[in-house]
Amino acid sequence: MDLKKLAKALIPDDDLLKPEEYEDIFPLRGVEKGAEVTRLAPSPTGFIHLGNLYSALADERCAHTTGGVFYLRIEDTDEKRKVEGAVESVIRSLNYFGIKFDEGAEIESPLNKYGPYYQRQRAKIYRAFVKKLLEEGLAYPCFCTAEELDEVRAKQTENKQTTGYYGAYAKCRNLSEEEIYKKLNAGLPFVIRLKSQGSIENKFTFRDAIKGDITVTENDQDVVILKSDGIPTYHFAHAIDDHFMRTTLVIRGEEWLSSLPVHLELHKVLGFKPPRYAHTSSLMKMDGGTKRKLSKRKDPELSLDYYRKAGYEPTAVVKYLMTVLNSNFEEWSLKNPDADYREFKFKIDKMGKSGALFDLEKLCDVSKTEISKLSAEECYEFLNGWVREFGTESDRAHFKDKDYIIKILNLIMGIGGKKRRKDIERAEQGVRLIDYFFDDTFAPEYEYRFDKATVNTVLEAFAKVYDPADDNQAWFAKLKGVAPLVGFAAETSEYKANPEKFKGNVSDAAEILRIAVTGSPNSPDLCTIMGILGKERSLKRLLSAKL
Ligand code: GLU
Repeated sequence: MDLKKLAKALIPDDDLLKPEEYEDIFPLRGVEKGAEVTRLAPSPTGFIHLGNLYSALADERCAHTTGGVFYLRIEDTDEKRKVEGAVESVIRSLNYFGIKFDEGAEIESPLNKYGPYYQRQRAKIYRAFVKKLLEEGLAYPCFCTAEELDEVRAKQTENKQTTGYYGAYAKCRNLSEEEIYKKLNAGLPFVIRLKSQGSIENKFTFRDAIKGDITVTENDQDVVILKSDGIPTYHFAHAIDDHFMRTTLVIRGEEWLSSLPVHLELHKVLGFKPPRYAHTSSLMKMDGGTKRKLSKRKDPELSLDYYRKAGYEPTAVVKYLMTVLNSNFEEWSLKNPDADYREFKFKIDKMGKSGALFDLEKLCDVSKTEISKLSAEECYEFLNGWVREFGTESDRAHFKDKDYIIKILNLIMGIGGKKRRKDIERAEQGVRLIDYFFDDTFAPEYEYRFDKATVNTVLEAFAKVYDPADDNQAWFAKLKGVAPLVGFAAETSEYKANPEKFKGNVSDAAEILRIAVTGSPNSPDLCTIMGILGKERSLKRLLSAKL
């Protein structure tokens, strides 16, 4: 068979470069020994998820702890899944979490020498190599229709055989020259398949950077490398792109592990040295006592937007993911509570070999701790950032009065006290937590544990003696003065000694005030809250809370 002629008939483009020219166009990067070149290679579907962040963080850390490069490649070979604005959304979402690319799609960088970074724009490169494989007899056209492939699959399933296009099932592998031209002249659509040289009789050991040594079976499937629309499949594009973009370490989900023999064969027939691979385990969650994969349909927390909308502190999310990524991060973090997580020596081989457990409650704890470390000013900026993007009109109006918010934050964060409070877990919850400091969002439901006369007496009596100039002690002394008016003990010690003698304790009187002023029986120091609210507003709240 005249393979050169056939290759020309199948790939008639007359503007292709010679495959070997690409080695010079995309020279080796000249990075230091040990420096890793990594990439994030998402499809532009518009759905950017926790798995992307998890993977991006591993990529970014591997590159930046070794003096390497982290780039963004867009795998847009499937036109149907493409969504407008998806690339910007990937960049923006990752930026929010402090992850930045050094080069790639939509990244302004002098390093952008290995593009285009959109696969659809790389068609010429792929086609040059498909043509080469055709000329070498390592690829062939396949004219099988979807129906024919379905029939083959059904037969294989019935015979309990591996499904796919291989061996005797690879009908088009042995078409004669005459048959091929006949089909081509009839204008039949075709794909190009790899003519696999492998055999399932052969096994070999492969070293994964995370999972360690794995024994795999050689590929014998004649996988599609170029689809009928002239665009490559993931397998082929991966081999070409990671070779010419000079990736040293491919970090990707373990769902790709089963395709690894195909990828290694593709590298071999193309004459490329394969990169190192690191297959990450899937993110799992506990659901009713069983561990399962996070699912797009069931788990809103899989979407990265979820964290921005709920206002998780971005560093907290990253730090939490670091604990999931590297088992020794948590210990390091406890020893170095104030250190930047980037100082941690991230190691790809410390990643879990199976099911990484993602626990939203643990993330909340990390988030609370991170927020508690902020100054009132930083916390204001953080909450205000969320308010501007996701808050209501009234939130925005509240946050215009920065001094007022800072006073509130000083109190609810326990700034200046013995220990920082951890009341704010994320921006959305934090903003709602301070709603009661503003009249338009103060929506109390007065639920007292005492009767009308008791409640009203406490409120009226305290309103009469309240003086904003009082310090905590004076404030409390006045409350002690009010307690006996309704049969409450003025001193907790007295109450504890003879509880049956009293209707309640001074703390119960404080609870009545607290409900009146904040709408809730739990709050930080009430005297300070009333000070922040001011005399007029505090008195108004006390008196309008009567039953
Ligand atoms: N586009 C592939 C995906 O989103 C990339 C896999 C890889 O990183 O190679 O799953």
